[in-house]
Amino acid sequence: MNDRKLHPESLMMSYGYNPEWSEGAIKCPIFQTSTFVFKTAEEGKAFFEVAYGLRDQRPNEKMGLIYSRINNPDLEILENRLTLWDEADDCAVFESGMSAVSTVMLEFLKPGDTILYSSPLYGGTEHFLQHVLTQFGVNIIRFKTGQSRDEIIDIVNKSGHSATLKMIYIETPANPTNDLIDIAACRQIADHFSAKVRPIYLAVDNTYFGPLWQHPLKHGADIILYSATKYIGGHSDVIAGAVLGSSEIIKRIKTLRTFLGNMAGPWTGWLLLRSLETLKPRMETQARNARHVAEFLVNHPKVERVNYLGFLDESNPVQYEIFKRQCLSGGAMLSFDVAGGEKEAFAFLNHLKLIKLAVSLGSTESLAEHPATMTHVDLDPAEKLDLNITGKLIRISVGVEHHEDIIADIAQALDHVQVPELEMA
Ligand SMILES: *Cc1c(COP(=O)(O)O)cnc(C)c1O
Repeated sequence: MNDRKLHPESLMMSYGYNPEWSEGAIKCPIFQTSTFVFKTAEEGKAFFEVAYGLRDQRPNEKMGLIYSRINNPDLEILENRLTLWDEADDCAVFESGMSAVSTVMLEFLKPGDTILYSSPLYGGTEHFLQHVLTQFGVNIIRFKTGQSRDEIIDIVNKSGHSATLKMIYIETPANPTNDLIDIAACRQIADHFSAKVRPIYLAVDNTYFGPLWQHPLKHGADIILYSATKYIGGHSDVIAGAVLGSSEIIKRIKTLRTFLGNMAGPWTGWLLLRSLETLKPRMETQARNARHVAEFLVNHPKVERVNYLGFLDESNPVQYEIFKRQCLSGGAMLSFDVAGGEKEAFAFLNHLKLIKLAVSLGSTESLAEHPATMTHVDLDPAEKLDLNITGKLIRISVGVEHHEDIIADIAQALDHVQVPELEMA
């Protein structure tokens, strides 16, 4: 194909794998092995020198396989394929999204350092920040979705920790409200507070929208994190995580991963390689279905409000401007307020048949849950109210089923919701 640069979806089936390595097998086998045989003692010595950073890699020298906590073909090929979507230099995969998150924070934050983060964050991430990192002497500062660059700069200044700021960590779109955070504005905030000897890293949890619909590195992020359990895995059958960024950043993260021992195993790597082949068609179908579902919900008399990014327009100029600049789709996550409260929301959830009542997201099957009592139960009550995470809010992760079947299931479940005012009218 001469000089043609192939699209990521064209490369997901074979990139980085050579059938000659495995008796001509078209697919990369599962390298279910803990250790690798060296051809000679000299080769083993050379591999260790590179792995331990005792000398730089020579121009054409490949990183040799040593031991599966350090490297394994299923993980290396997976990492190479994941870099293509976000056009990152390098990637590190983990046994969970949370191990990706915690390893990034432990590598870049030391006692006395400060992290600024957007709220709401994924519950596990927020817990790690508030209850684990603070025990290691890391200062935490929060800002809320919707706050402007100048308001955020003001929060940092007033915190008294501006001189130790080391990382800005955000999640956009925010779960479950779909509020957008401006990645480029966060880059400006990082640059505003950084010093020559103290770079401030901007990390974006891209689980909700990546790797297809949002590419944070292009907007100034340094680090992208994924729960690969969600869209990347996409089949609700594996827990995994990934981090992407420059070679220098990923080298540091892989080194800490070696010593925490939280890399993904070869079986997880293989499952994700298989998932990546259908990533784009899955996500595109999910996004198309989500639009149909959102359009149905917005016209339903028992639905009071729909949070779906595909509906943003000039009536919300700030969010719409970020959306146009930063997002490539309306996505496949939406939430809505059912008329009534928790009782009515539960009646809806309890009557779903095709859509499963479960947390998690991004999978082939549609999932529904109740943020106020499930994924976001830990949030401060005042903040819950502030974010409109009330008893009436339902979150749906739209899957790949036929959209008319998804809508029919939602319609029949809504029929079971009895709204007092509507019954009287
Ligand atoms: C699920 C999730 C995580 C945590 O990932 P696990 O794979 O469950 O460890 C982190 N961030 C976001 C946005 C998530 O949805």
